Amino acid sequence: MEKPRIVVIGSSNTDMIIRLDRIPRPGETILGGEFATAAGGKGANQAVAAARAGGDVAFVARVGQDMFGEQALAGFVKDGIHVEYVTRDPVAPSGVALIFVAKDGENSIAVAGGANGRLCPEDVQKAGQAIAGASTLLMQLETPLETVQAAAELAARAEVPVILNPAPARVLPIDLLKLVSILTPNETEAALLTGVAVNNEAAAAQAADTLRARGVETVILTLGARGAFVAGASIRELVPGFRVKAVDTTGAGDVFNGALAVALGEHRPLLEAVRFANAAAAISVTRLGAQPSAPDRKEIELLP
Ligand code: ADP
Repeated sequence: MEKPRIVVIGSSNTDMIIRLDRIPRPGETILGGEFATAAGGKGANQAVAAARAGGDVAFVARVGQDMFGEQALAGFVKDGIHVEYVTRDPVAPSGVALIFVAKDGENSIAVAGGANGRLCPEDVQKAGQAIAGASTLLMQLETPLETVQAAAELAARAEVPVILNPAPARVLPIDLLKLVSILTPNETEAALLTGVAVNNEAAAAQAADTLRARGVETVILTLGARGAFVAGASIRELVPGFRVKAVDTTGAGDVFNGALAVALGEHRPLLEAVRFANAAAAISVTRLGAQPSAPDRKEIELLP
C-alpha cells in the first residue's frame, strides 16, 4: 500500500536538560549536574511520530543556521522525513528549551522559540503544492497563528482535511476553527477553549459540542490513560486507552496526533483511526522522552 502523504507544519526545538539535586535559585550556582539533549518541539515530535507510524511526511518549519538546526535536520532525515520546506533562518537561532530537573522530579523550564517565531505565511505558500497534494495537514500552536491560518486556508481550498492540535492552549479565532476538520485538545486545552471543566465523559461531550458549534467538524478530546472522546456529526463515543505501565507521558499527545494523521490519511474509519492513535501513544508512555519514544508501525500493529 502506498503511504499516505502527511504535511506537518510546526515547531522544532532542542531540549537541553540538566538533572541535579535541586533547582538553582536566582543568583545561585549548583555543581554536579548531568547533561542531556533531546530533540523536541511539538511540530517535530508529531512529524517524527507520523513518519514512524507509516506516513510519507513533509515537515514545514524554521530552524537556525546553527549546530542545533543541523542536528534537528539530521534527525528528520534519519526518520525519512522530507525536509525541503525546513528553512534555515538567516537571523534567528534554533528554538531551544533549557530544562532543570531536580531529584524529586520538580522541573523548571525556559523556552526561547527563536526561528519558530519566524515561520511565516510565505513559508506555507512555498509548500503549497505539497499541502494541496496531502492526505492530511497536521498543525499545532507553537508557531505564529497567522501562519496556521494561512495554511488552513490553503488546505481548505484544496479540500485537504486539517487536523489542529490546539497546544499549547490559547484562545482561537472562529475564522480558524471553521477551517478545522479535526480538533484534538487535551483536557486542559478543551477547558481553556470552552470554559467547561473536563472531568468526566458528560463534560467532555459538552466541551466537544461547544467547539463543534463554533464550526469545528469533529472533536477528539484526549483524556490521558482513559483514551479519547470522539464527537462528530454522527458519532459520540469514548475510545478507551490501552492499559500500559506509564513511565513518562511527555509527548503522548504528539504521538497520538502523528499516528492519527496517518490512519486518517489511509482513509480508515474515524473510530479505528483513534484506536490506532491510542495504541501508538500508549506505547510511547512506556518509554522515556518525546521523540525517542514514538513507536514504529510494526510495534503499533502488534499491540492487541
Ligand atoms: P497530552 O499528552 O497532550 O497531555 P493526553 O494526556 O490526553 O495528552 O494523552 C494523549 C493520549 O495518549 C491519550 O488520548 C491516550 O491515547 C495516550 N495516553 C496518555 N497517557 C496514557 C496512559 N497513562 N496510558 C495509556 N495511554 C495513555
